[in-house]
Amino acid sequence: MNYLVVVAHPDDEVLGAGATIYKLTKQGHSVNVCIMSSEVKARNHRPKIKDLNEDINKSINLLGINKVIKGKFPNIEFNTVPHLKLVQFIEKAIEETKAEVVFTHHPADLNNDHLHTSLACQAAVRLFQRRPEVSQLKEFLYMEVLSASEWGLNKTVNQFNPNTFIEVGKEAVEKKIAALSMYRGVMRPYPHPRSAEVLTGLAAYRGGQAGMVYAESFESVFRRGF
Ligand SMILES: [Zn+2]
Repeated sequence: MNYLVVVAHPDDEVLGAGATIYKLTKQGHSVNVCIMSSEVKARNHRPKIKDLNEDINKSINLLGINKVIKGKFPNIEFNTVPHLKLVQFIEKAIEETKAEVVFTHHPADLNNDHLHTSLACQAAVRLFQRRPEVSQLKEFLYMEVLSASEWGLNKTVNQFNPNTFIEVGKEAVEKKIAALSMYRGVMRPYPHPRSAEVLTGLAAYRGGQAGMVYAESFESVFRRGF
C-alpha cells in the first residue's frame, strides 16, 4: 500500500504519525511524506537550512520513510499563499507517490499553516475523481499533533475527535521519540507536550481507549473500498 503524510512543517509527520509510519514501513508498505514548508521554521533557535535538511534525513531514515517531497511555502504565512497553489502542490505529490491513503492535519489545529494544509489537502485528495488515471483514494485521515491539535481554541469548529486507533507497541513509540529527537530544538522538558513523558502518555491513553498496547489515534473522514 502507498501512504502519503502531508504536513505543514518538518517534524509534524513524526508528531502526528511517527509510530504508525514506523509500523507501516516495517510491514513493507511505502510511506512518503510531503512537507509544505521545508526550509525554515519560526522557532526560538531556528536551525540553518543545512542543519534542518540533515535533521529531516536522519529522522526519515529512522522511520523507514521512502521519500520526502519538500515545498517552499512560507512558514506561518500559508494564509498569504493562494489556496490553488497549495492544492496543486499536494496533487502533484499524490500523483508522484501513487498515494492510496493520505494523512494530514486536523483543520481545528491552533497553527494556521496546519489549517491551510488541511483545507488544501481536502481538495487535493479528490484528484482521482477528476483524473481517472490517478490512484484511487482508499482512506483520508486527520492526525493528532501535540502542541497544535490540543491547543486549538476555536470552539466554533469541531476539535480533533479520534475514531481510528492504530496499535503501535512500545518500540514504535520509542522510535517516534527518537525520530523527533533528531530534529534539534523540538523536544522540550516535561510538562511541555513535546516531551517524552507526554508523547508516551498520549500513546498509552489512546491505546487504553481502544484496548491496545500504545496507539496513535486518527480521525478518519473518508474511506472507500469495502
Ligand atoms: Zn506544524
